[in-house]
Amino acid sequence: MKTVKLKRGKEKLLQRRHPWIFSGALAFQEEKPENGELVQVFDFRDRLLAVGHYYNSSIAIRILRFDEGLIDLAFFTGKIRKALELRKALGLVQNEENSVYRLVNAEGDGLPGLVVDWYNGVAVISTSSAGMKLQEDLIVSALKEVLGESLKAIYSRDEEKKGKYLFGKGSTPHPVREYGHTFLVDWEAGQKTGFFIDQRENRKKAAAYARDRKVLNAFSYTGGFSVYALHGGAAQLDSVDSSGPAIDLAIKNVELNKLAENHRGIEADVFDYMKDHKNEYDMIIADPPAFARSISRRHNAVIGYKRLNALAMSSIRAGGILFTFSCSQVVDTRLFEDTIRAAAIESGRNIQVLERLSQPADHPVSIYHPEGNYLKGLILKVD
Ligand code: SAH
Repeated sequence: MKTVKLKRGKEKLLQRRHPWIFSGALAFQEEKPENGELVQVFDFRDRLLAVGHYYNSSIAIRILRFDEGLIDLAFFTGKIRKALELRKALGLVQNEENSVYRLVNAEGDGLPGLVVDWYNGVAVISTSSAGMKLQEDLIVSALKEVLGESLKAIYSRDEEKKGKYLFGKGSTPHPVREYGHTFLVDWEAGQKTGFFIDQRENRKKAAAYARDRKVLNAFSYTGGFSVYALHGGAAQLDSVDSSGPAIDLAIKNVELNKLAENHRGIEADVFDYMKDHKNEYDMIIADPPAFARSISRRHNAVIGYKRLNALAMSSIRAGGILFTFSCSQVVDTRLFEDTIRAAAIESGRNIQVLERLSQPADHPVSIYHPEGNYLKGLILKVD
């Protein structure tokens, strides 16, 4: 394994157990590692501190372990087994009402760059670092060992949206259950790993607020919130998304749950749609895609969230309920709430915060890596 040395004083960062080392902390004394290569990290006194994946970028090393152990099959098996134990303790595994959960949540489960989602017998892997991508064979072996007979197939989905089966073969759309509702998931052609598992608990909340309301599910994707809100007694529910295939699947998902009577699926741009439908809805769910993927885009993202929320706040009926979210990692809870406040001022409406929302326990966050807390939401009452 190649070694990298930290500049004097930078070892303190590792004592805080943050799993990233930024390029500015590195003092190369040897050959520069290749992108994705495993490296050992030493302090300026040549004490070994950690092992991680190297990449020539601002986040230069993603740490896998804070000691000198190996990154082998036993390492991955141990981490994945521990992750599965947590999901079992949460009641998500072998549960008739639920067959979808996040099995591995990257840094939150000690595996930076790796997400594994479980869809009723199929594990969908998504790697966001070159290092993890190179270790897919070990990850596949570890998943087979830990999941045993219950595992029918493994599909790998990378950021360029090309994917392939690494074990077995599945077919999409594939049915899963969440809180007793049925959803069809398409990890081959859909977005991310196919389904936004991180909204499970928030969807349940939406069901509790929807009774007798006319609801707009903006950025509906395949209708996760739509099914819950209709089940919760929404008088009418309109799913709006700019993706045709997502709307087709939303319509199917609502039908599968026998809730189609008061539902419409509409392929449209949310901003245009809201402008044309003012004062029509008394509940709006706004769960847009991440507006910023990097710090450099954060300012534009804030402008986008403000514009979206000001529009939603000014178009909702008096007494309406607004569920609003941001899944941009670089927009933290504080900035998100400040942005929503700015939108409220622009709308001129009186607004109360009813609840603050986040991500569920199968998307755990390492306390040493607050950036992992990416999903933020508010339930607002708009007078
Ligand atoms: N709430 C969903 C997930 C939303 S993901 C769930 O619980 O499953 C974000 C969605 O926004 C994607 O489906 C994407 O197609 C859609 N989208 C992005 N920009 C849009 C726009 N300007 N208008 C409408 N939909 C948009």
